[in-house]
This record gives sequence, C-alpha cells and structure tokens, in this order.
Amino acid sequence: MSTTMDRPPGQGAPTREQITEAIRPVQEPEIGRGLVELKMVPEIAVDGRDVALTVELLTPLAPYKERLEDELRAALTTIPDLGTVTIGWRTRVRASGGGKADAQPLKGIKNTIAVASGKGGVGKSTVAANLAVTLARAGAAVGLLDADVYGPSMPLMMGQTSKPLVRDGKIVPVEAHGVKVMSIGFLLDPEKALIWRGPMVAQLITQFLNDVVWGELDYLVIDLPPGTGDVQLTLVQKIPISGAVIVTTPQAVALADAVKGLRMFQEVKTSILGIVENMSGFVCPCCNETTDIFGSGGGKRTAEQYEVPLLGQIPIEPAVRAGGDEGRPVVVGHPESATAGAFAHLAERVAARLAKDAATAPRKAMIRLMPTRG
Ligand code: ADP
Repeated sequence: MSTTMDRPPGQGAPTREQITEAIRPVQEPEIGRGLVELKMVPEIAVDGRDVALTVELLTPLAPYKERLEDELRAALTTIPDLGTVTIGWRTRVRASGGGKADAQPLKGIKNTIAVASGKGGVGKSTVAANLAVTLARAGAAVGLLDADVYGPSMPLMMGQTSKPLVRDGKIVPVEAHGVKVMSIGFLLDPEKALIWRGPMVAQLITQFLNDVVWGELDYLVIDLPPGTGDVQLTLVQKIPISGAVIVTTPQAVALADAVKGLRMFQEVKTSILGIVENMSGFVCPCCNETTDIFGSGGGKRTAEQYEVPLLGQIPIEPAVRAGGDEGRPVVVGHPESATAGAFAHLAERVAARLAKDAATAPRKAMIRLMPTRG
C-alpha cells in the first residue's frame, strides 16, 4: 500500500489545479467542448489523495453519463497514486435566452419551446404534452402553456379540468403529471365556440406568460395554434421563444404546410430545433407489419432540404390516441411503448440542442461607460 511516507519528495497530495488540468480534455459530447471550459465541474474536493468531483449535467436526459464517468476516471489515472475517486452528479439546465434581442426574456423561465404545425390534426398537442411530461419525469421543472385558443386540448390530454386558483391577482397553474399546465380550456365552457381575433389572442397569451405563477421553470412548452397566419406570426413575435419544434405528418400536403411553418420562424429569426414526423407508419399489433398510412420519409426529406434536424419519427399507435382522450399521455400510460421511446428520444434531442444554444450563446456585450473629462 502506498503512503505519503514512501512517495518521492515533492509528490504530496494532488492540488485542485492538477485535477482540473487532468480532466480538462474530457468533453461534453453533444457540444464538443470541455467540461471544465463549460464550467460543468463546479466542485473539486481533495482530501489527502482522495478526490471528489461534482459534475453538473446540462440536461435531465443526458444519455452519456456513464461514458463521461469512464472518461473522467481514465483522465485521472494520469495523476500517480490517486486514492479514491468519487464522482457526484446533478443537473442544472441553463437559460438559452429568448431568441430575439427585443423580446423580454421571461422571468424565472430558462427555456421556452414552441410546438407548431402548419395545419391542425397532425398531433401537435400530443407532441407538446408528451414532450412536457417526458422532460418533467426526467426531473426538470416544466410548464405547459396551451396557446391553441381555437381548440384547447390540454385539459383533456393532461386529464385536468379543475379551474386554476387565483392568488394575489395571479393565476396558479394546474398540476398534471408533474407539469404546471395553463390553458384557456380551464376557464371556458368546452362546448362554446369563441371567435378569437389576432390582438385578443396575443393579449391573452401575453397575460398567460406574465400573470401566471409559473415559478422557476427549466422548460416552458408552448402549444401554438395550428397554421401560419397573422395570429401565429404575432405570437411568435411576442413570445420570447428559445426554439421551435415543427410537427408534421409524412404526406405531401402536411409537409407543404410544415415548410410554411419553417419559413415563418426563419422570418422572425427564431431558431428551429427541428421537425417531428408524427403518424409515421402504423405497426399492426396483430402481425407487427408496418404500414405507411400517410407515406414515409417526408419529414426526413424536408428536414434535409431545409437543413434542420429531424427530431423524431413517431409511429401511429392506438395507445397514443387513447391516452390523449383519457388524460394519460402515452409516456405515462405506456412508457415501454415504441411511441414513448420516440418521445424520449425527441425530448433528449430538444434538451441537448437548447443546452448547446445556452452554452454557445454570445455573451451580451458589456458596455463600459468611460468617465468624461471635464
Ligand atoms: P393537433 O394538435 O395537431 O390538432 P392532436 O395532438 O390533437 O393534433 O392529435 C389529433 C388526434 O390524433 C388526437 O386524437 C390524438 O390523440 C391523435 N394522435 C396524435 N398522434 C398520434 C399517434 N402518433 N398515434 C395515434 N394517434 C395519434
């Protein structure tokens, strides 16, 4: 057994600087920059020859934790006679800002994800609900804002119809499946059709953003109304959006509309996180054969053509529809299903992309006021 006594002179306990230098080459694989450079190792404790590190992951769904642990341990073998190495893990999601410089970032909300579609019925709300629940189940603080005022489906999909409370003039969102939910559907008679004009929608959503007690959120998922008209354009200009997810089905008509959605976000210079191809093939529960009811590969081709990521292809599965109608999103009711797996992959990609944007966002220019000489 090696002790400090039989070590050559000058080779005492390692310093924090030595540890930092040893682990400096280890990279965050999605961002391709060092953990040290990204300030992801906030704590290094040295006790004699034992070392304890704390790594702060940037997303709650980092699939590369084991790999990082192996790489950190391997890097530390370059320090001779190191004792026990303990690696602790926690997650701190960082803010990726609010897209445009003139939009006010929302207080306490680190990332806003807009879920959009060129047309209705493609599964936009289903994707928004399952994305929000997947992030929350992974440990993130998540809100879900149903901005689809023409067909608010979140009360039904999230299984909550109770009216939100009002406290000190602010609305307290309704909790469902670990997510804070706000929807106009909580406040209106579901049978009643309302005519919403553009300015009213914008005013309502602004109020939902500012007058709802969201608290501290890692992610706020916003289910936008379908389409790319004036209402949507006003909303994407008003809401500080960190990134947009565009949902489509694989057939040409839906894709043409998805492209309009892409263009709308490009026009207002909002970053597009990627495309989700929903209802992408039906796996027959009897014979396991896949039938491409709406065609296949259209989302992938559109993503390639417009150079945006394809975030996932979600199959048609009866459990998705049933879960939506019963207020139990498929990721809760059937976490082992193929669709839940596809949603997990989608959430992982979205969180990774936002983390990358947060890490690479240009720092706000610091203006130094020089004293003027009299
Ligand atoms: P949108 O928000 O685009 O109008 P919805 O999310 O409300 O669409 O979905 C429309 C219908 O399709 C809902 O009944 C929903 O449960 C169902 N649905 C959505 N995605 C799938 C899927 N992958 N498999 C089966 N049914 C789905």
